[in-house]
Amino acid sequence: LKRLAVLTSGGDAPGMNAAIRAVARTALARGVEVYGVSKGYSGLVNGDWQCMDRTSVANILQTGGTILKTDRSDAFRDPQVRADTAERLRAAGIEALVVIGGDGSLTGAHRLEEETGFPVIGLPGTIDNDIFGTEDTIGFDTAVNTALESIDKLRDTATSHERVFVVEVMGRSSGFIATSVGIAGGAENIIMPGHPIDFQLICERLNDSLRRRKFSSLIVIAEGEDPQLTSQLTHDLGVAGYPARACILGHVQRGGSPTGHDRVLASYLGSVAVDYLLAGTSNVMVGVRKAEVVTVPLQDIVSNKKVVPDELIDLAQILAT
Ligand code: ADP
Repeated sequence: LKRLAVLTSGGDAPGMNAAIRAVARTALARGVEVYGVSKGYSGLVNGDWQCMDRTSVANILQTGGTILKTDRSDAFRDPQVRADTAERLRAAGIEALVVIGGDGSLTGAHRLEEETGFPVIGLPGTIDNDIFGTEDTIGFDTAVNTALESIDKLRDTATSHERVFVVEVMGRSSGFIATSVGIAGGAENIIMPGHPIDFQLICERLNDSLRRRKFSSLIVIAEGEDPQLTSQLTHDLGVAGYPARACILGHVQRGGSPTGHDRVLASYLGSVAVDYLLAGTSNVMVGVRKAEVVTVPLQDIVSNKKVVPDELIDLAQILAT
């Protein structure tokens, strides 16, 4: 392997830069040239890439976002476009590709290798932690901590004003951020995506709290599929006699300086990915299970859905009551 390319794709996540840096520096240390692709698969399709050296990735370890920029590319969903892209890569002497991104990006990576034989390795880069086969993803820890900063502040106001806050966090349809934030922020209720809201139970819990002379309450709600859910719940609580305020944390959770945990995770996985490619392993994602680095076939990621473990949901419920 003499030359590889690296890209970031899909939603940005804190730690992507640390991953790019690790890929670049490990490759260079092993005598492999590195090309950084701009704007994910859009740049890949258009041959928009540049040779990187050690200084191209200097001073980015601590920054959020991605220096390579990211994008969503409809063109790359077309098999013919993927075939042309593989040809373009080969013509440029690029022999392997590192893809840092979420579920969708890794699916695209899998298709590219399956259809064209072009070697690809994936890194789990998403705040949502919703990728099968790995217990952790680059950006998740930072997003949870970012959300917690806000939750702790809302708790102050909720307590002072004796009020209920309905706080919507990101995490798409998986609910990992909601579970972690709910547990770590001491939420009185956590509403998971895909689970119907038990409004009566929420009201019973609020009544319990009031009986115990606890007048503030935080309800953490995962963004899920229904954009109206948070405002609907807040409205219904008001009608039921519990004045509530909604707070949608939104995109602040995607940015910011990565935590130490995410920097180490990204550095480790980025470096290991290059070594796997050098050893001839591809069409996999590198992830972590039980504090060890593992490879997960991209096919498994495409065909399986990761769900929040029941124990974690139970824990959240026990601690909330
Ligand atoms: P994420 O990687 O964060 O889950 P997306 O789902 O938007 O983000 O996927 C990012 C990009 O990956 C898409 O814009 C597309 O170019 C590519 N992609 C996603 N799903 C597929 C697919 N089924 N086949 C080919 N490419 C895909």
